[in-house]
Amino acid sequence: MRENNINKNINNMLNQVEELSERYNVKLEKNFSEYSTGNLGTTSLEDNRLFISVSSKLSSNQEKKNAVIIHELGEALYILNKFPIITRSLEYCEYEQKLFEIFTHNYINHLVDLYNLREFMNPINSKRDYGKDNKNLESWKRIINICWIIIAHPIMLENKDLVEGYNELRSEVDKILNILSKVKYKRKSGSYMMDTINILKENGMSKDIEVVEQNFYKIEFVNDTIGKEKNVVTGFNIGLSEKVYNTIKENDKKYYENITISDNFKRIIVKDLFSKEMEVKDVYRYNIDFEDGCYPKLISLDSKDECYVESNFNDQIIEKEENSIEDIKSIVLVLESPHKYEYIKLQNEEIEYKPISPAQGTTGKNIENNLDIIISELLYRYKHIFKEKTYKIIICNPVPYQTSLYCLHGKGLKSKIYSNLRNEIWKAIFKQRDIKENFKKRIRDYKPELIINACTIELQPYIDKFIKDNFQDVKLVKINHPAAWGNFNVKY
Ligand SMILES: [Zn+2]
Repeated sequence: MRENNINKNINNMLNQVEELSERYNVKLEKNFSEYSTGNLGTTSLEDNRLFISVSSKLSSNQEKKNAVIIHELGEALYILNKFPIITRSLEYCEYEQKLFEIFTHNYINHLVDLYNLREFMNPINSKRDYGKDNKNLESWKRIINICWIIIAHPIMLENKDLVEGYNELRSEVDKILNILSKVKYKRKSGSYMMDTINILKENGMSKDIEVVEQNFYKIEFVNDTIGKEKNVVTGFNIGLSEKVYNTIKENDKKYYENITISDNFKRIIVKDLFSKEMEVKDVYRYNIDFEDGCYPKLISLDSKDECYVESNFNDQIIEKEENSIEDIKSIVLVLESPHKYEYIKLQNEEIEYKPISPAQGTTGKNIENNLDIIISELLYRYKHIFKEKTYKIIICNPVPYQTSLYCLHGKGLKSKIYSNLRNEIWKAIFKQRDIKENFKKRIRDYKPELIINACTIELQPYIDKFIKDNFQDVKLVKINHPAAWGNFNVKY
């Protein structure tokens, strides 16, 4: 009887998960037996694929396994019900994950009560003296830990003083637990999350965490390449958060006409943004000279090519090796994609934005001021890296289009919503075979002896892997993005 009851309930939850996945076009990949990591189970959403896995280690303990399955299905339902999420900061830390789990696990507790499943959770709801390693942390971290322990093991609600630090921080912890106990999951407001974050801020948390609406990205490129070059991406479908969508709508009438919304989850199609007309071409910007025993010297070119007339720098077209008069080897500085200052806004023109050249603005200034320091450091670290007397410095954007969609919303990348949007779009575009082939062809043409991966941190691994897979012989180094190179803030 008990067995039947649990199976019925698990099936019931699973049906809901399947139904919602289908509604939101999310591909469900569940693995309830063969998965093996340190965790008992995990649930995660990636590129519209929802992975739910339960550890193979649980196969000998069916009761514990059922409890973990209920827990993971609860996490899946939190995601699929589009309850708000928190943004991850650039310097992501484990406490953000824990903080978010406080919210998802609170929802799981709500579901467990709703379906009368409390007794089945006993195998993962044990009473203990938790939190031994909690002692010497800053108070906001301790508060997160204590709340996390209590929410993850609701039996501890009756035994709070067994948790290390509770007695000391009880007023903050109880405030948060009280907020969480009153959440109405019928409404999708994240105000309870903001209230919790504010309490943590009062206790020393300095991270800027935003609560954002959850949306599933539906990404596909519209095939509209008739008469256009093959590597041109002409259309783009992406789910946007309400906030971004409204900003775009208010920002620019002209571009608003270029996006269309479709069906129930705010898919938009952006036209003409990832086209030949919006491509920012890579440039040859400097030479770097090495003379025995001297500091490497970064030398600007004598003039700029007329196609880069608006550039702040003397940029030249990168000639293909076979056309090149002088055969100079190159160092390629790889960024990610152009943003605000790499375009010029025109008035009363058919095309409103015109590409200039890569790395204008602060990025360009920081490169000019710091690249010799960086190269000199590399010279020091890898003695025989530079064999020639002179190299040309090439600046390259793997994705040469404005993935930030700046010209649609006019917002900088300081806000997590917009930098996440840029990252998602960049990844979606970089995934395209034609884009990768084009990037590969460019790098091959540049014949670099060294590639400096200075791509923004979240996207850096994609470039790293791609270069390692395709250019095994080229020396590759990673460094932080030049936008952050000011004030001696160079991280290798
Ligand atoms: Zn969990």
